[in-house]
Amino acid sequence: MPHAIPESLQTKIEERLRYYQDLNIRLFYRDRVAHRAAAPETPVASRPEPSPRSAAQEPVLPRPKNMPAAPPAAPAPITSSAALSLFEEKVPGDTLLKIREDLGECTRCKLHKGRNKLVFGDGNPHAQLVFVGEGPGADEDLQGLPFVGRAGKLLTQMIEAMGLQRKDVYICNVVKCRPPENRTPEPDEVQTCSPFLLRQLDVINPKVVVCLGACASKALLQTNRGISQYRGEWQDWRGRKLMATYHPAYLLRNPPAKADVWKDLQKVMAELGLPLPKKKSP
Ligand code: SF4
Repeated sequence: MPHAIPESLQTKIEERLRYYQDLNIRLFYRDRVAHRAAAPETPVASRPEPSPRSAAQEPVLPRPKNMPAAPPAAPAPITSSAALSLFEEKVPGDTLLKIREDLGECTRCKLHKGRNKLVFGDGNPHAQLVFVGEGPGADEDLQGLPFVGRAGKLLTQMIEAMGLQRKDVYICNVVKCRPPENRTPEPDEVQTCSPFLLRQLDVINPKVVVCLGACASKALLQTNRGISQYRGEWQDWRGRKLMATYHPAYLLRNPPAKADVWKDLQKVMAELGLPLPKKKSP
């Protein structure tokens, strides 16, 4: 005779399933055992190259003049990582609009309590380059847009120094609601919100992801290593290139570090095939 599931456990399972449903995650089985056995010891998550998005899903925005088209994606070797296990699979037919709708007036973590506006992300939905920051600040919280305060202005300068404009790239954060007093997002908040970031990145499917600061780098790379240990070095992240660099807010406090960030951004430019501008660092 089958064992009955206790009511409290059943309620918990139902709640968890509803949460995954909100995230549009419907497939729950996957044989990862073989992959894990073959996975190399590495702190950096990697996964097979995501398949190119169907052109029919969203309107194609013009690519910036000086940004060449990405070469066809080469099949990546199957490797695996213990990180991001519940969200390894892409959500079929996902779009940024759908992700925004799934978020709704989100109350999934405590950050919703102090929020004015949820800051989803902004920019080109087909960008080759995505910047990921930590979370909204006061200006972002009021306007509902990422990186619009002082640090945002510096980020805009950095983007323009690369020969691009903000509308050419996509900008978002690990958490979408402002942490009180601009504190660092707590682990439970990152864990609750980051699945939506992963969905955004899978939908946009950029060639390069730039993590701005330790929070974004740790969240995506699933590592506790200090950012200074791997800043400026290419990381393989879910079949894409990831560059961790300092957050613009840190650069406002430590202007000499701008030179390091500019070196990192020049590596990104080279990877994207962008010509190195003649102007000096921002
Ligand atoms: S930070 Fe993310 S998970 Fe938390 S309430 Fe805001 S949108 Fe929801």
